[in-house]
Amino acid sequence: MRRVTESPVDLAVLTTGSLTIIAGSMYAGKTEELIRRSRRALYARRKVQVFKHALDTRSEGMEVRSHNGVPHEAAAVSTGEELLAKVAEETDVVAIEEAQFFDGQIVEACRTLADAGYEVIATGLDMDFRGAPFGPMPKLLAEADEVVKLRAICARCGRDASRSQRLIDGRPAPATAPTILVGAEESYEARCRHCHEVPEHVFQYGLPGV
Ligand SMILES: [Zn+2]
Repeated sequence: MRRVTESPVDLAVLTTGSLTIIAGSMYAGKTEELIRRSRRALYARRKVQVFKHALDTRSEGMEVRSHNGVPHEAAAVSTGEELLAKVAEETDVVAIEEAQFFDGQIVEACRTLADAGYEVIATGLDMDFRGAPFGPMPKLLAEADEVVKLRAICARCGRDASRSQRLIDGRPAPATAPTILVGAEESYEARCRHCHEVPEHVFQYGLPGV
């Protein structure tokens, strides 16, 4: 990773760094947006590195092709620290897929990279299947210079969808199920807030006067 000294000369470097978060439900097109932005950087002959969490086996992963057709496959990392260690000095854009899988350390890693002059672009589910904030995403959204929130189409009614519906054997999964199920028989669909179903969900806050 590049080092920022306290020399005034490096202030020019500091001003180029940024953090962009592309959030939304499943099937909202977050990865497509990440690929689009990465491709633009490659056209500008900037160097892009792509990362994903080692837990991320559900998605097939992102592949960005540069102008000479060389694919950039996402490198799997488990922690923010590991990610930092793998960022090359000559890299301009650090793309991170499925940021919600990381722990809080990813926030520090993104901040460190953006402060050092890297353009960091991360995708992530802002809400888990219950509709609750997912892992480090609230902090990443707060720290971001730019937030892009994409919506999918509700599989039930066709309206804009902001939630990820988890289904187990075709039925809505209860709120008591673990947030991340690795290798379980489950499926997901995008749903709007009206069609989103979470059995056994206990809301933390009620409506005023209710
Ligand atoms: Zn709906």
